[in-house]
Amino acid sequence: MAEILSGKLMSEELTRDQARRVAEMKEQGIHPGLAVVLVGEDPASQIYVRNKGIACETIGLYSRTVKLDKDIPQAELIKAIQALNEDPLIHGILVQLPLPKHLDEEVVLASILPEKDVDGFHIDNAGRLFTGQEGVVACTPKGIMYMLKQAGVPLAGKEAVVIGRSNIVGKPVAMLLLGEHCTVTICHSRTQNLKDHCRRADILVAAIGKPHFVTADMVKPGAAVVDVGINRVDGKVVGDVDYEAVKDIAGYITPVPGGVGKMTISMLMENTLEAACRQAR
Ligand code: NAD
Repeated sequence: MAEILSGKLMSEELTRDQARRVAEMKEQGIHPGLAVVLVGEDPASQIYVRNKGIACETIGLYSRTVKLDKDIPQAELIKAIQALNEDPLIHGILVQLPLPKHLDEEVVLASILPEKDVDGFHIDNAGRLFTGQEGVVACTPKGIMYMLKQAGVPLAGKEAVVIGRSNIVGKPVAMLLLGEHCTVTICHSRTQNLKDHCRRADILVAAIGKPHFVTADMVKPGAAVVDVGINRVDGKVVGDVDYEAVKDIAGYITPVPGGVGKMTISMLMENTLEAACRQAR
């Protein structure tokens, strides 16, 4: 039976620590602030944005939600972001994705000042991660590494397999695992013999977006299985891993809900605090 890596417990501990750090920063005259830009009224995005606001409030961060019309021209959205770039009360800026189709995500993300890009999606920060330089690391991959390290999962020299090659999860988590000296394989929708790759993994990260995709026969006994997926099935949230079957084979497993998702918000808070400290210096 696998050790369950509880994002819920780890994030609760982080929240207490972050609240203490925010109080200390305020004593030194630093009031960290996060702005979340929401374009349109996508229901899932609205929930995510609300949860981010609650997380800010819990640790004492100043938070501002900038709500913009779904038809906003790109130039106006960029103007709104530039105003936040120049706003001394704001240390972190997050543009909630996905954006409406008429907006070019790459151009919009590139308009955020890299030091305020707390999502770590700006090309400067992605490039820094790729070249091993210090920068802002995307929240979900950062949270995954935090969980693995917190649980003491051995990384150096181990086989890590990441399923999924997105810019927000698959690729950055692969780079972070490489940075910890894992031997990394990135699998994707065109990968042949996927099961064979997966069965070799000491660390298996599933970031696919397909419910119960990773089955027990894809998992090496004792492996650390990280389930990034968030899928809605019959009104319930489930991951990409067949949790009930895999937990009897894996050495470590992250549940859904209560796993990686919790860490993502904690790491957003972490990135905002770090950004505020750097900008105060
Ligand atoms: P994406 O759709 O951008 O990428 C999915 C990846 O899965 C692609 O690279 C694709 O090649 C791969 N894939 C698809 N079908 C496959 C197959 N049959 N075999 C092998 N690979 C296959 O998704 P994403 O943005 O990386 O998100 C992945 C999942 O993680 C989603 O469920 C998303 O909701 C979730 N997510 C969770 C968090 C969190 O905080 N927990 C954060 C971001 C994303």
